[in-house]
Amino acid sequence: MKYNNAETLQSLLIKVSGALQKYIVNSQDGQGKVLDQMPASQLSRELNIDDLVKHGGIHKEPHTLKFLHAYLAHSQHMHHPQYIGHQVAVPHIGSGVSDLIHGIINNPMAIYEMGPSAAVIEKSMIHWLLKQVGWYHLDDIADMGFYPQHGAGVFTHGGSMANLTALLAARAAIAPESWTVGSPDDLVIIGSSVWHYSISRAMSIMGMPQDTFYRADVDENDVLTLKGIERAIARAHKDGKRIMAVIVNACTTSTGLYDPIQEIATICQREQLWLHIDGAHGAAALLSETDQHLMSGVEMADSIIWDMHKMLRTSTLCAAVLYKNPEHMAATFQQKGSYIFHEKEAVGFDVIPYTLECTKAALATKLFWVLAIEGEQGLADYVSHQYAITKKFYELIIAAEDFDCPYVPESNILCFTYSKIPLGLDAGIYHLQLRNELVSEGYYYITSCDFRGTTHLRITVMNDLTTEQHMTGLLDAIRITASRLISTTTEL
Ligand SMILES: *Cc1c(COP(=O)(O)O)cnc(C)c1O
Repeated sequence: MKYNNAETLQSLLIKVSGALQKYIVNSQDGQGKVLDQMPASQLSRELNIDDLVKHGGIHKEPHTLKFLHAYLAHSQHMHHPQYIGHQVAVPHIGSGVSDLIHGIINNPMAIYEMGPSAAVIEKSMIHWLLKQVGWYHLDDIADMGFYPQHGAGVFTHGGSMANLTALLAARAAIAPESWTVGSPDDLVIIGSSVWHYSISRAMSIMGMPQDTFYRADVDENDVLTLKGIERAIARAHKDGKRIMAVIVNACTTSTGLYDPIQEIATICQREQLWLHIDGAHGAAALLSETDQHLMSGVEMADSIIWDMHKMLRTSTLCAAVLYKNPEHMAATFQQKGSYIFHEKEAVGFDVIPYTLECTKAALATKLFWVLAIEGEQGLADYVSHQYAITKKFYELIIAAEDFDCPYVPESNILCFTYSKIPLGLDAGIYHLQLRNELVSEGYYYITSCDFRGTTHLRITVMNDLTTEQHMTGLLDAIRITASRLISTTTEL
């Protein structure tokens, strides 16, 4: 109680905002390191964790500034233009402000009474997302009515949770008895053989053995083939199985390429199968006039997930699961909890019947703040720009004689290889070494991925400050790292 007051908050906010301001300016100018790693035990001492926890006082000097300095210095610098690593948003400051407000007022809004403002914003943001998919037809996204002719959805703490929620809805639709007797053993799921691992986990949680995931073949770029889908369906029929859902990637995590949604949706319609789109990363293409063709056919699906904390510029976590048919969402969980689901004479609506989460953060306010600063067009321009500049990076890479890209990128994810690999060394292991070496130097942050049976270098262009100059710099940095790697290898 002693320090939990407005005065302490205000003095802290002034210091924190000063430190963050410096952090953003220094990150964005791109001069320092993206990532300054040190051994964990050294870092924990630098942060003075043990002492602060035992005695408190972080809100007083010299502790506040000392801690902030160390904490920020050894964090991943997402705002740095040479952050080209994982599919995590370089957070928009609007999202940060909404995090701050939520952190101070803490309104777990799954029950309307526990956060009416946040609940109304969530419903509006769901309408906005549904509108992009083609499942909401009113002009006003802030209309609070219930209409069975529009879709429905809910925000979740991450895409993995969203996938699980969608699959639970799909199971409730085909086998409602699962709620009382568990998953029937004749249910299978069909999906790409490069499915996201959150699907495997969801199946495990649902009590579905991993061999009830029928892998459909992909082409050499990890894109689902129609033949693969048809074959998997035929196999399910032959095995006497019921197909609970067909899952497509939009886009795949590794290569950033899109499965052919329209064609697969047509097959699913013919067979009357639940089509689920894993749009965690790539559903954002819906916003971009130049790229929305990649999502053609999306409105024919039954459910889709979408991570705002990937391409819609929010901090973690912020995701949503959307359904074409609101009855599917309503049927996901058949449970009634008397303390929350009581018939009441009350204003507003509760989203708690439709979520796995019981206590839930005001997630949609993050997206709202981004939109309310940038406007729809601003966010759309961001997506278009990231996708377009990645194509430029592709051209730059293939123009270099010592680098190669195995495919033309469709999104802002790109895999590539370095071709001057010393004779006798395994390309995959060498790429991994290159990547690790580069990251430990700290000036560029990139990732790697398994593709075509070997490890590739991989970038995800999340930062709108990353330019062709940074990309040229990256290729040079890789060359220098490679030559150093070679000299150390020959010394050994
Ligand atoms: C990131 C991702 C997920 C998982 O989302 P989280 O928010 O990380 O839980 C699921 N599917 C695909 C295709 C993804 O790229």
